[in-house]
Amino acid sequence: MPKSPSDTSDNPVLPLYTQSAFFPWQVSVWNKLFTQHVLPANKNDNFPHALLLAGIAGIGKKQLAFYLAKGLLCQSPEQNPHSGEVEPCQSCRSCQLFNSGSHPDLYHITIPEDKKIIPVDDIRALIQWSVLSSQFEGKKIIIIEPAEAMNSNASNSLLKTLEEPVAGTIIILLTNKKQALLATIRSRCQTIDLALPEKLLATQWLEQSLMSEGNKAKAQLLLSLASGAPLFALDLSRGDQLKVRHTILDHLFSIINDSIDPVRIAESLFKQTKLKQTKARQTKAQQAKNTKKPLLISTYDVIYWMDSMVSDLARLAQNCTHDTINNIDYYDDLQLLSNRLHLRKILQLSDLINKAYYEIQGSVNINLLFENLLIDWKNCKK
Ligand SMILES: [Zn+2]
Repeated sequence: MPKSPSDTSDNPVLPLYTQSAFFPWQVSVWNKLFTQHVLPANKNDNFPHALLLAGIAGIGKKQLAFYLAKGLLCQSPEQNPHSGEVEPCQSCRSCQLFNSGSHPDLYHITIPEDKKIIPVDDIRALIQWSVLSSQFEGKKIIIIEPAEAMNSNASNSLLKTLEEPVAGTIIILLTNKKQALLATIRSRCQTIDLALPEKLLATQWLEQSLMSEGNKAKAQLLLSLASGAPLFALDLSRGDQLKVRHTILDHLFSIINDSIDPVRIAESLFKQTKLKQTKARQTKAQQAKNTKKPLLISTYDVIYWMDSMVSDLARLAQNCTHDTINNIDYYDDLQLLSNRLHLRKILQLSDLINKAYYEIQGSVNINLLFENLLIDWKNCKK
C-alpha cells in the first residue's frame, strides 16, 4: 500500500535535478549500483539495461534514481579519496545540463497532472525517443515513476523495449508497489529492494533537516507516523498535514464514542476534499485573494489516516507493544479503544481500506465510499 500522502511528490526534499548527494542510508546501494560499476576494474559496462527500484514511499527512491542518472551521464565521475565512493563531478557539460533540468539524454515519465495513470501514448513516445542517438555519445537514461501507474496497455507497450533493449539505453523504473506490476515487467528488470533506513540514521537525518528548516516538530513522532520513511516524515512536518491527521483521528474517535453520526462526518470530509480540488485548480492570484484558509483535506488523506489508526488498533488488539504502532502520541487512547472493538471486524475494515486505495484511483463515488467506511468503523464496536 502507498504510505505517503498524495501531495508528497509536489514537495520534494531536494530539487531532483540539482541533487548533489545520495541520502546517508543509501551508501551501500549507491556503491553497489554506481561506484562498483564505474571503477576502472569493472569497466566492461555491464550496467543492467533495466533497473527496478522498489520500496515504500518516502525513502528517497526518486532522488536516488535521478542522482544515479546524473552519475551515469557524467563525463568524468570523481572518486572521493576518503570514502572511496564515486559520484558525478557536478561540473562537466553533462552535469551542468542535468542540473538545469534540460539534459537531452534523460527522459522522465510520470503521471500527467490531469490524469491518474501513465497513458500508453507517453510510453510510445519514449520508445520512439529511445531509438534516437545519444547527444553526448554516451548513455541515455529513462526514468519511469511510479511504474505501477502504467495500465496494462502502457505496460505491454514497454515490455517490447524491455525484451529487446536498445544498446546504451538504461530504463529505471520506480515502484512503491512491486506486486502491482506485471510479472513479465518485473522479470525483465534487475530489482533492487530498498529497505527502510536504520532508525538511528533516519532520526539523525530528520532532526538535521527539521533544524535547517527552523521546524520544531518532533522527529521521533514524525518518523513513527511515517512508518519509518524519513522523506515522508519531513513532508508531514510541513503545512497543515499534522492538523489534517488530528482532524481525521478526532472524527474517528467521535464516531466510535457515538457523539456524531458517521454519515454527517462523511459528508463533511467529502466537502473538504472538494475544496482541496477547487484550490488546486485556482491560479496563485485567485488563491491570494482568498484570505480565509480552510483546512484542505484530500481523499487520500482520509483513507491514509484511517488506515493508520485501524492498523494500530489491530496491532494493539493482538497484544503488540507501543514500539509497533504508528500513532504513538495517541497510544493510551488507542490501547483503551482496542479493548472495545471486535478484532475480526477491524481486520475486515482494514481489507476494505486497502481496496479503497485502488478505488479512489477510478471513478468511485467518494461521499458514498466515506459513508460505507465510517459506518463499518462504527460497527467495529463490541
Ligand atoms: Zn559530470
